[in-house]
Amino acid sequence: MKNYKRLLMYIRPYLKRLGIAIVCIVLAAGANLYVPWIIKDMIDKVLAQKDMLMLNVIAVGIVVVFFFRGIFFYGQSYLVSFVGQRVIIDLRDVLYQKFQRMPLAYYDRQQTGEIMSYITNDVASLQNAIVDNLIEMVTEGSILIGSIVLMVYLDWKLSLLTLVTIPMVGQAMKVFGRKLKTSGTLIQERLADITALLQESISSVRVVKSFVREGYEIERFHNQNELNFQAAMKNVQLMSLLTPTVEFLAALAVTFIVWFGGYEVVNGEITAGSLIAFLTYAVNLANPVKRISRVYGNLQKAMAAADRVFDVLDLPEQITNKKDAIALPKIEGRVAINEVCFEYKKGVPALVDVSLQVEPGQMIAFVGPSGGGKSTIANLIPRFYDVTAGSIEIDGHDVRDVTMESLREQIGIVPQETMLFSTTILENIRYGRLDATDEEVVAAAKAANANEFILELPHGYTTTIGERGLNLSGGQRQRIAIARAILKNPRVLILDEATSALDTESEKIVQAALDKLMVGRTSFVIAHRLSTIFNADQIFVVENGHIREHGTHAELLARGGLYSNLYNIQFNKAKDK
Ligand code: ADP
Repeated sequence: MKNYKRLLMYIRPYLKRLGIAIVCIVLAAGANLYVPWIIKDMIDKVLAQKDMLMLNVIAVGIVVVFFFRGIFFYGQSYLVSFVGQRVIIDLRDVLYQKFQRMPLAYYDRQQTGEIMSYITNDVASLQNAIVDNLIEMVTEGSILIGSIVLMVYLDWKLSLLTLVTIPMVGQAMKVFGRKLKTSGTLIQERLADITALLQESISSVRVVKSFVREGYEIERFHNQNELNFQAAMKNVQLMSLLTPTVEFLAALAVTFIVWFGGYEVVNGEITAGSLIAFLTYAVNLANPVKRISRVYGNLQKAMAAADRVFDVLDLPEQITNKKDAIALPKIEGRVAINEVCFEYKKGVPALVDVSLQVEPGQMIAFVGPSGGGKSTIANLIPRFYDVTAGSIEIDGHDVRDVTMESLREQIGIVPQETMLFSTTILENIRYGRLDATDEEVVAAAKAANANEFILELPHGYTTTIGERGLNLSGGQRQRIAIARAILKNPRVLILDEATSALDTESEKIVQAALDKLMVGRTSFVIAHRLSTIFNADQIFVVENGHIREHGTHAELLARGGLYSNLYNIQFNKAKDK
């Protein structure tokens, strides 16, 4: 019910159109009511009184009424569809905005297909519900009400009689139907008992034989079989009894109505045409009643879709801007991580008491075994997740006190693998800063060592990614990511294994571009190959969510701990090759 009201909120902006639509539906439905009325006039005036003028009036009337019915029909489908489509488009936009605001943690849990299904399937079934059900509901509602009004107008006594007896027959049918269903269930249960017994005795046939219990089992089966027979016969009996009873009741009611109507015609209280028209309306009443209950069922289904959609809209966003969040001023790039703990899942610590201080322009490296928590530290800096305990400060501002937009605008990320959008290379690089000019994009590409290979593509910068099988190599994609980051010109950089997926050859070119990019920026480098971080200002060895050791390359080597182990492994490997 609450969600119903919410859905109506989305319809509100289109109320005027909806109003006109409903008027059209009512008028189009009204044309259906005109048919029995024609019959009445035909019988009473044309046939009984041989009234030629009336015949012409009726003929013209039919043409006119059905002409206008066509116009109203057009109006109803166009306008209702318009409103339905609009509501759905609006809802889809709102949902999409919601998904854009949801934190990464939501996407960790949710499957992509499921998210897409909200926006496509659920929203689409809502649309059908609104468009089809609305038309049907109003059409059938108008016919129902119109028929009853006309019936009462034609003959109120007969109407009273009909409207009392027919629902009574309907009620009787419902009660009998329920009885039949119960006895049907009983048969099903008996049949299931037989199956269970069969399964048991056949699968334990060895036991049966070893105890010589064949006779006992036969007896048991026979009894169960008998029970099934009794249930089946009870059902047959009920059915054979109920069907004629209901039919007889219905016949009784109809006879009663027809008799009373005929009696009134004989007595001159109503005309023959009126009686026929009346009976036509009465018989036609069954349709709207049936359809309205079907619409009701459809609405239930649609409301289930609405529930799902609104549930998504109500999801907590977890990571949002504080009410008094300020825009992070242009930063220098000083980063402090203070005793940070973090859990992706409650009770499973991914980081424990991680602390580090970084001066502007420093290069920081995280090394250590996979799954240790290196990426997790990097994820916390742009506030993709909120720390469980401790704090992260940039230039003295807690990342939770500033707006997410102003924070993330000043942090550049080059991931291990770069997603490119199916648009031109130019636009893909411009994703880094939407208002960059073409010249700036080309300059960034040059700085990222990407200009050369881009110019060799079929259409240079306007080549579309993914078109005609154009697929860039990993190294080329990384250079585009670097160009994006250069355009963005952030003070803080995160390079999350930016070269680990590359072969040695392209790694060299990409690393050269990265080295240029890092100059003068605070950089966090997650590295697989230690050779790329020898000259880092601080190296942190992360294992099992803890920082195990830190220092410069030389200091850590001298220490002879984890880092020097890692170094020796890689170094010896390199020598073996
Ligand atoms: P590293 O970067 O050192 O390889 P990660 O930071 O990716 O390590 O992972 C640290 C721990 O957190 C691992 O145990 C990993 O399974 C877990 N983890 C990483 N990302 C998620 C996530 N999105 N949801 C749940 N657990 C995660």
